[in-house]
Amino acid sequence: MTTQFDVAVIGLGAMGSAALAFLSARGIRAIGIDAYFPAHALSSSHGDSRLIRMGYFEDPSYVPLLQRAYRNWRSLEARLRTDVLTITGVLQIGAPDSKIVRGTRASCEMHGLPHDVLDKADMAARFPAFQVDDGEIAVLDPQGGYLRPETAVMGYLKLAAADGAVLHFGERVSAIEPDDGGVTIQSAAGRYRARKVIVATGSWIAELVPQLKTHAVPIRQVVAWYQPRNGFATEPQRMPCFLRDEGPDGSYFGFPAIGTDGVKVGRHAHFREPIDPNRPNPPVNDTDTDLLDRFIAKRVPAAGQRVNATTCRYTMLPSEDFLLDLLPGNRNVVVASPCSGHGFKFTSVVGEILADLALDGGTALPTAAFSFDAMDRFIAA
Ligand SMILES: Cc1cc2nc3c(=O)[nH]c(=O)nc-3n(C[C@H](O)[C@H](O)[C@H](O)COP(=O)(O)OP(=O)(O)OC[C@H]3O[C@@H](n4cnc5c(N)ncnc54)[C@H](O)[C@@H]3O)c2cc1C
Repeated sequence: MTTQFDVAVIGLGAMGSAALAFLSARGIRAIGIDAYFPAHALSSSHGDSRLIRMGYFEDPSYVPLLQRAYRNWRSLEARLRTDVLTITGVLQIGAPDSKIVRGTRASCEMHGLPHDVLDKADMAARFPAFQVDDGEIAVLDPQGGYLRPETAVMGYLKLAAADGAVLHFGERVSAIEPDDGGVTIQSAAGRYRARKVIVATGSWIAELVPQLKTHAVPIRQVVAWYQPRNGFATEPQRMPCFLRDEGPDGSYFGFPAIGTDGVKVGRHAHFREPIDPNRPNPPVNDTDTDLLDRFIAKRVPAAGQRVNATTCRYTMLPSEDFLLDLLPGNRNVVVASPCSGHGFKFTSVVGEILADLALDGGTALPTAAFSFDAMDRFIAA
């Protein structure tokens, strides 16, 4: 017998878990299915911390969505009665005309966001954990901080379950078959029918959305943790989260020593090595750790010695933007891209957008830049 739902969400990482919670809050009959247990080590939504910042260097057009995301994170915390978002400020450091510094200032100025511009002397006085070159500056976004990814994913799943969602873990969906009346979902354990399906399968997205085969590219990411020599300089109360623009050497992100974990650092997109999502993440090697050790020794020497390193995965689209849209040719399928390595902070608004797309066929939130059309235009340009 085929079980019938209003909406099925395939993939319960960041995007799928939030979508399921927003759907269930609207009182519909929803099912969420994940091949593993969510926030697992092969997903992109584990690892204790994710940056959030308001002055978005990538493009000022993200700011209205971030404002909504912050509001939704605080609502999630209120419903869960636990902390998900911690404000530390985020420093964006580099040459004044570097992409990150220039872009952050532009976003802050366009949207009237509070920010401080600090020179080398200001940085030495206020944030001695960082080494800054002559002529470099830092833009402090006081609304920035970090999120707890596992708490958020599990929290959204708990809310969804409390609102009546059916949750299936350890069940891989092998096919979705859309037709005019809805979608048939096939897994090893069963067959389901839903009016709409949301595909939020992260680095596996192209398996169920073959239109993304050449566009959604899973790549290897590496992060490492360092134990501070000076236990005070790297505390979250004294050291903000940071982004550092190193020009041709790319950009690095990092967190203060949260709990007992030490300072965490990574280079955005690392070496951009494509990976097969169905194989284990290739292990950390000396080239990976040399890169991160050199960065820490030069830029955050107070972070001390490396104590751990691990691999994770980003899934990149050509423009490095998001894709949140109905599938062209079948409006019963909603596609949620894994967001090109910078999506976690938006999870709380992406969930709302996905629920709107599935239940209303559109959303009042500004998502025109995240459409299949926008992706095609970028590729054609
Ligand atoms: C190391 C690292 C650092 C990052 N830092 C930041 C940051 O600081 N700030 C920020 O905003 N973002 C950051 N990101 C990006 C952000 O974490 C991701 O955009 C986000 O977590 C992607 O979530 P997702 O739900 O799309 O994918 P995932 O979390 O991978 O979830 C996809 C889920 O789908 C399931 N699935 C796949 N195929 C199937 C199937 N056929 N059937 C059933 N289930 C299936 C999987 O098991 C998985 O649980 C970072 C990412 C990484 C890896």
